[in-house]
Amino acid sequence: MQKQNILVQKFGGTSLSTPEAREHVLRHIRRELARQVKLVVVVSAMGRSGDPYATDTLLESTVLNGSIPSARERDLLMGCGEIISAVTLSGMLSSEGIPAVALTGAQAGFITDDNFGNARILAVRPERVLRELEAGKVVIVTGFQGQSELGDMTTLGRGGSDTSATALGAALHADMVDIYTDVNGILTADPRIVEDAKPLTYVSYTEICNMAHQGAKVIHPRAVEIAMQAQVPVRVRSTFAEGEGTLVTQPEQFVDSPGGVVDRFVTGITYVNNVTQITVGQQEGIDQLQLKVFQAMAENKISVDFINVTPYGAVYTVFDNEAQRAEAVLEEMNLRPSILSGCAKVSVVGGGINGVPGIMARIVAALSEQNISILQSADSNTTIWVLVKKEDMVQAVRALHNQFQLHV
Ligand code: ADP
Ligand code: MG
Repeated sequence: MQKQNILVQKFGGTSLSTPEAREHVLRHIRRELARQVKLVVVVSAMGRSGDPYATDTLLESTVLNGSIPSARERDLLMGCGEIISAVTLSGMLSSEGIPAVALTGAQAGFITDDNFGNARILAVRPERVLRELEAGKVVIVTGFQGQSELGDMTTLGRGGSDTSATALGAALHADMVDIYTDVNGILTADPRIVEDAKPLTYVSYTEICNMAHQGAKVIHPRAVEIAMQAQVPVRVRSTFAEGEGTLVTQPEQFVDSPGGVVDRFVTGITYVNNVTQITVGQQEGIDQLQLKVFQAMAENKISVDFINVTPYGAVYTVFDNEAQRAEAVLEEMNLRPSILSGCAKVSVVGGGINGVPGIMARIVAALSEQNISILQSADSNTTIWVLVKKEDMVQAVRALHNQFQLHV
C-alpha cells in the first residue's frame, strides 16, 4: 500500500496537563506541518488521576455525587476528558491561524462492539478524517473513544488512546505513528525505578509487545499488535525534549543500526505489582483438583497468571484486588489454599533468551546477592519471570538490570 504522507501524533495525559506542556505539543505540531505532512493528532484526557479533567477524576464521587451510572452512561462521562483536550488544542491551533478541526471517536469513524468500558474496535472508517485532511486541516481526534453499532459512545479501556492512534494510523496507511509521552522513548526499564535505564534506539514490535504485556506501561500492547498487523512504524518519544525516541518496527527496518542488525539478548526488565500467589496442594479424595480449580476461577471471571501445574497441585497468581474472592471460591470447594498477597512479578524480556545456558543461574545469583527470595519462576522463548515479595521488587529490577548490563 502506497504511503499517504500522513503522520499520526498521539499526546498522553501529562503532555497536555499544563499550559507549558501544551506549548510543547504545539511546537511538535508546527515542526511537522513545516514538513508538509498531513497531520492527525490523537489526544488523551489532561493529566493523571487527581487532575480536574483526568478520566479517573471524572469518575470520582464528587462529580457523580454518589450515584452509580449504568455502564453505557459511565462511558459517556469517561469520554469527556478527551473532548476537553481536543477542543482546547483545536482552539489553540485556530488562534494561531492553523486550520484545525476536533472530531470525537465516532466522528473519526471508530466502530466498536458494545462492551462498555472495554470495547473492541470492529472497524475504523476514516472518510471524514480524510476529507478534513484534504481540506488542509489538522485533524484532532479524541483518543480512547468509539461508537457502538447502535450509536452509543464507547470507551476502549486502559491504554485506549495508544490503541486509537495506531488503529487510525493503520486505517489511514499513515507513514508513522508518533506516541509522545513524558520519557525519552522506550527504556531498558521504568526510569522511575532504574535511574540509569537506557533509551533504546530500535525495538521490534515483538520485543515491545512482550515488554508491554509484562508491565512496561509506556505503550499499550494492543496498540502495538495493531501497528504490527498493519506494519505501521511507531515512534515513542518525549513531548518535553528533542530527540527521535525509540523506533518500533520490524527488525529488517533497523537499517541505520551498525550492520543493520540488533542482536540483543535481553531487551529490558519489567514488573507487575500487587499480585497474590495462591497454592493449592493435592488433597485426599479430590479428583482432578487442578481442572476444578481453574474451571472455578474461570466461572468466577477471575483472571489467573503465572500458572504452574504439577502432580502435587497447582500454584498461580491473581491480582491482589481479586484475591479475597479467589480464596472464598476455593474454600467453598472445601480446598485449603495458601495465600501470599503483596507479591510482584519481575520479568527479564528479550528475544535472545531462548536456550542460552546459564541465564537462570545469573538471575538467581543476582537476586540472592541481594537476599531476595524467588517465590516462583517460569520461562518462555522470550521471557523469564520471577515472583518476589512486593517490598523486594525495586531491588530485584535494579539487580537484574545490572546483571545484564543494560545501562551500557
Ligand atoms: P502517557 O500519559 O503519555 O500515556 P504513560 O504514563 O502511559 O504516559 O507512560 C509513560 C510512563 O511509562 C513513563 O513515565 C514511565 O514511568 C513508564 N514506563 C514504564 N516502563 C517503561 C519503559 N520500559 N520505558 C519507558 N517508560 C516506561
Ligand atoms: Mg499511556
